[in-house]
Amino acid sequence: MPELPEVETIRRALAPRIVGRMIVDAGAFASAKFTDAELTRGATFEAVDRRGKYLIARLDTAKDLVVHLGMTGVLRTADQRSTNDKFLRAWWHLDDGMFLEFSDVRRFGRVAVVANGHYEQLPTLHALGPEPLSNDFDASVFHRALNASNRAIKTQLLSQRPVAGVGNIYADEACWIARVRPQARTITKPGATRLHTAIREVLEDGIRRKGTTLRDYRTFDGNYGENQHHLRCYGRAGEPCDRCATILRKTVLDARTTTFCPVCQRS
Ligand SMILES: [Zn+2]
Repeated sequence: MPELPEVETIRRALAPRIVGRMIVDAGAFASAKFTDAELTRGATFEAVDRRGKYLIARLDTAKDLVVHLGMTGVLRTADQRSTNDKFLRAWWHLDDGMFLEFSDVRRFGRVAVVANGHYEQLPTLHALGPEPLSNDFDASVFHRALNASNRAIKTQLLSQRPVAGVGNIYADEACWIARVRPQARTITKPGATRLHTAIREVLEDGIRRKGTTLRDYRTFDGNYGENQHHLRCYGRAGEPCDRCATILRKTVLDARTTTFCPVCQRS
């Protein structure tokens, strides 16, 4: 699933292609998860922002076009509207002739048009925690938030509430770097501070490397990201820990595969 670095990589490439362009026509696959695309006809893109894993295009109609890529969503541009993609879920025809298309095999993605800043109908976005790369992400507040629940640390990260944008890959990476046990239900102040730093580090590295391509994710130009070549922990169960050489172990935590070092991820 695309996480913050993948969505940010797409945002940076998408914004210069669509900002200032008017939507001449738009259409969608007949599902309430996508038909909002049609509400953008006649609007002009003013900016493309991101919150967590959500792309938020600001329209001149005081509306936001919100796109969540889900598991397998891909945004791309085309000179002609695709006629042979049975997974095409939404499309926008822009006033320079270009088509913006949203293709999504598994349909966990979402397209919504809402009044600017009003995300009540998108509960995860509405309740999203602070942006990890902004000053809103504070280590002390993060520490208190993690200890306010007795769910596992990693489960809380995936909930998007203590901090936005972290999914399975970057959660495993950040916990490994911070030497935090993903299954732990409490965390020390130093542990939370290390995790706070590690989250920023893995996300910034991920953005710099244009995301992690394991299966479906591609950059906006259709290329692979680079970060999959630099993973320290995620997907490496059975291999030795880069730090202490113990064999990394795999477990299932709240239905998500989780890799960790049983020796050096202690706190
Ligand atoms: Zn280790």
